[in-house]
Order: sequence, then C-alpha cells, then structure tokens
Amino acid sequence: MNSVNQNNPSEIVPVGLEKSDDRHLVIDWSDGHQQRIPFRMLRDNCRCAHCIDKHKMYKPVGEAETLEPQPKPKSLALPVLSDAEARPIDIASMAPAGNYGYKVAFSDGHSSGIYSFELLRAIGVESQGE
Ligand SMILES: [Zn+2]
Repeated sequence: MNSVNQNNPSEIVPVGLEKSDDRHLVIDWSDGHQQRIPFRMLRDNCRCAHCIDKHKMYKPVGEAETLEPQPKPKSLALPVLSDAEARPIDIASMAPAGNYGYKVAFSDGHSSGIYSFELLRAIGVESQGE
C-alpha cells in the first residue's frame, strides 16, 4: 500500500504572520513558537543574487587581505543613501513562494528576495511571551 502524503507532518510552517507596530515581523509557527524579526534584519538577510553581490563587495574574502590598503578619499567616504534607503524600512507586501517560503517586497523597492521557512526560522528572535 502506498501512502502518498505531500505534507510532512514534522515540517514546521508559519501559521500566522503579522507586522507589529514596532517594525517587527511576527511569525506564529505550527509548533507553537512565536518569533519576531526586525524588518531591517529581514532586509539584511535577503539571499537574492543582487544582495549577495552587494555583501561580497563589503566583505572581502581572506585572499584580499594581502592587497595593500587603498587610502580613503577625504570626501565621499560614506556611501550615499537614496531617500528610500534612508527611511526606516517597511514590508510592503508578502506573498507565498511555492510551499516553502515567502516573497517579500520592501518599502525601498526591493522585491526579489525569497525567504524560505528555514531562513525565517534561523533569523530574528524568539518571543519569550512578554
Ligand atoms: Zn535581495
């Protein structure tokens, strides 16, 4: 007898999602845990190709340490933020991506990031039931 069950009962999935007033994504999981993820942390953990490239630019790999440090220009030392980037980040929308995660659109216009349940579960802080 074949018992075909697409749903793995041990898989933990979100059963509730909401945005809190203090800029956290609040996730209720099927195992009863509640988790809070600051919007900024969620944005910083984007795994899309664009963001991974950006991370690489800011975090040189070990090999790069042998290169001589370049003198920093006196001006333009800080990256210029666009208006959207300077504003506090917000989640514009969230939509299911397949049955494994969510596609999240942010207020800065970035919307190509897909957050798997696994990733969501790995970031943020677990609510201690304040
Ligand atoms: Zn991204």
